[in-house]
Amino acid sequence: MAGEPQADCLFCKIVKGEVPATVVRETGTTVAFRDINPQAPVHCLVIPKVHYPDAASLAAAEPQIAADVLREAGEVALQENGDKGFRIVFNTGAGAGQTVFHAHAHILGGRGFNWPPG
Ligand code: IMP
Repeated sequence: MAGEPQADCLFCKIVKGEVPATVVRETGTTVAFRDINPQAPVHCLVIPKVHYPDAASLAAAEPQIAADVLREAGEVALQENGDKGFRIVFNTGAGAGQTVFHAHAHILGGRGFNWPPG
């Protein structure tokens, strides 16, 4: 069923505590943890506890939880990097570099970023 945990999903396993993660914040609907392969001095992921394959499908099915992810992105950035600014990235689809098919926001900070992005 939509939103249910998937047995073969790495991030569902992090939600359940079956795979360890360095959790920096948790709410009733979200978990935020440090990326295992950081691309910036601050690099955290915010995920919904429910399983949807990407941010767009999460927003279509559960708009309030998608809003929770965005709000938590701001809270994580403030906690980890103060008010110095941050970048949110939602890689969506393998063609855009998505490798874990459980919705997640990358929160990046602590260095400068180029535009257009690479
Ligand atoms: P994507 O490429 O946008 O799907 O991002 C997936 C992210 O998950 C990558 O930045 C990985 O480094 C990160 N990642 C993969 N496995 C783990 C883990 O076990 N803990 C924390 N981050 C992970």
